[in-house]
Order: sequence, then structure tokens, then C-alpha cells
Amino acid sequence: MKVEFYGHVRQYHNIQAEIDANIKKVLESGNYVQGPMLKQFEAEFAAYSGTKYAIGVANGTDAIWLALMALGVGPGDEVITHPNTFFATAEAIWIAGATAVFVDCCPKTKCICPEKIEAAITPRTKAIIPVHLYGQCADMVAIKKIADKHGLKVIEDNAQGIGAHGPNFKIGQLSDAATTSFIIQKNLGTFGDSGALVTNSAEIDAKVRKLRNHGSNARNVHSYGFNSRLDDLHAGVLSAKLKHIDAWNDQRRQWAARYTAGLVGCKTFDLPVALPDYRHVYHLYVIETKKPEWRDALVKHLNDAGVDAKTHYSIAIHQQAGYPWGKGARIVGAVPNAEANAACCISLPMFPELTAEEVDFVIAKVKEWDAKYASQAPAGKGPAQSGAACGCCR
Ligand SMILES: *Cc1c(COP(=O)(O)O)cnc(C)c1O
Repeated sequence: MKVEFYGHVRQYHNIQAEIDANIKKVLESGNYVQGPMLKQFEAEFAAYSGTKYAIGVANGTDAIWLALMALGVGPGDEVITHPNTFFATAEAIWIAGATAVFVDCCPKTKCICPEKIEAAITPRTKAIIPVHLYGQCADMVAIKKIADKHGLKVIEDNAQGIGAHGPNFKIGQLSDAATTSFIIQKNLGTFGDSGALVTNSAEIDAKVRKLRNHGSNARNVHSYGFNSRLDDLHAGVLSAKLKHIDAWNDQRRQWAARYTAGLVGCKTFDLPVALPDYRHVYHLYVIETKKPEWRDALVKHLNDAGVDAKTHYSIAIHQQAGYPWGKGARIVGAVPNAEANAACCISLPMFPELTAEEVDFVIAKVKEWDAKYASQAPAGKGPAQSGAACGCCR
């Protein structure tokens, strides 16, 4: 049996009539850029998010730096985030001309640790970017409290958490803006690239709308800007898919529960931690090996068996040779949790259209490997999860 990592074509076939109808509608309308389908999707996405505004842009990276720019964050300013995320989180800070300052993540959630943030604040700090990594929300209540105390802006990088929420907050409620990516592999994805940000601020909405369209909101009148628009064809695909996102996320949660039930007795790795009362939407289901040297061996075992396991992300941003440290980017304190996450993480196949047979096959192959090495497993949690729990991971 082969188990793929993504189910893009399965998903298309499941709702092909709805997607095709919207594509046809756009094609026959003659309006392909900033047309009625984009307006419709923006209204639907704002309603889904529970925010006043949603602005479609070209991709999730642009959404972050356009938000930074709209908030006036640029050269000379510092932005605090964590290094165990997709490169784009820090790349966007770099593109905006600001400096990324990295602090550690929580050992359990893998999201930014609120207790590490204050030590990194300087007079130049302007913003915090928490990432809802793997589909579980960062502790926005704690982050918002710190931001308010120090007069900082907050942008949620929600590329991985559409439909997630905390026990007492929704994404977009406790921040200046929440950005997202609709690249095909995200929980809500189109057939290519696009992204959006949501906000309750009329000012950010107006600024980003102008910035994404060559600094223009009236014909022939321009100010500083870019081309970062979300095409109407993609908006049509996303509008069709948005109706299914909650059911798809429910299905992801069911597969996650099945993985967890099937793997709970294993000795060689730790399972992902879902906080009680949080809705984790499992963009990724990530296990962490108890020895770093086991990671590549287990991935190879799975790949050889036909299971497309991957790693997210095996090189933390501060470990990337290509990151521009010369601009003053730095880590504050040590980041052992983030580094252990990078060294030990394995993502198992996770998408709504998996079958029970496929999930059980993956479980069987993982257990096969675990049985071989269980006797060598250290007692207790592995390096990625043995760090001291902070307030938010309880
Ligand atoms: C995917 C992703 C992005 C970037 O999105 P693009 O649409 O590829 O630009 C940013 N941050 C995180 C956490 C992501 O997973």
C-alpha cells in the first residue's frame, strides 16, 4: 500500500461540481482580477473568521509583511517570533525591513512561549508574531497581555490554523491582524498560491487594500504599493471549499485521534500534545523521536514502506545559513525546545480524505519500527518535550 502525504486530487473529486461551477462562473464573468468573486470570498471569509474585514492577497508571506507595513513596522524595528516555524514567518519580517528576534517555543504546544517574550523586548520592539503551529493556537490571552503592557502590535501567523480556536478566544480577536495562506497544502487551499489577512481595524483594511494594488484605490491615483492580489479564479475555488472547512477539520481531528489511540503505547517517540479546550485542527500530526538520531531512520523506514512521512521543519530558522544575521537578527536566551523540535519531528500523513485503512497502515508501520528500538528508548519524554512546562502548556 502507498499512503500519500496530501489528498489534493481526492478533495477536488469529492466536491468537483461545486468547484467547477465557481470556476465557470468566473471565466464567464470576464472579471478575473479584483472582481465580484474576490469580493464575495472576502465577505465569506470575514464572516467565517468573525472579523470585520478580510483582504485577499497573493500568498501567506505577503499577508504577513503587508500587515507589518500597514502597522508601520519597518527598518530599525524588532519583531519577536519563534524559530521553529516555516521560514516565511521570519522571511516576511526580513522583507518588511525589520529585524527578527527569536525566543523559544513551549515544549508541548511548539507555539511561542509567552514566558520567554518579555526578556526579548527592547525599546525597538514593535510587534510579536505568534504562529498557530501545526494547527494549534498559541496562548493568545497571555500574548495579548504582554503586548498591551508594552504597547506592541500582534500579528497572528495563521497559515496553519484556519478553524482553530482557544478555550476563550478566536483567531483575529486578540491581535491587530491574523494572516493566512491558501497554498494548496494548507487546510483551506486553492490550486496554486494565495493568502489573506483578517482584521477588525478599518485602518489596516484600507491600508492593505491599497498596498496590494499598486498603492491605488482609485483609477490612475497611486502611492507606494505592490502587486499582491488574490485572483478571482482562486477566490472561486476557496469560496466553494470554505463551506467544507469545518467538516474537513473535524475529519482531521478524527484521524489524529486514531493515530494517537494506535500509537499511545510506543516507547521511541512522543505524541503531539493537544491542549484541553483548544480546537487543534491538525494541519500536521507531528511525532517527536526520543533520540534525534532516530528521526531520519524512522522517516526512511516509513518512506521505504510506502508511507510519505516528512519533517516540518528539520532546520530551525536560526540554523539556516541563508538567514540574514547581519541585520541584527538574534535569538534571546537559548532555544532548546525549538532545536529539539527541529531535530526530532516527523509529520505523518494527515488530510481529511485519508481512509481508515491508510491510517491503520501508517500506524502498523510506525509500530513495526518502534518494536525494534523500544528496548533502547530512554525513560520519560524525549528532548523535544522534556523542557519545563510553562503556564500555557500546563
Ligand atoms: C505556509 C506558511 C506561510 C507562507 O505561506 P505562503 O502562502 O507559502 O507564502 C507562512 N507561515 C507559515 C507558518 C506557513 O505554514
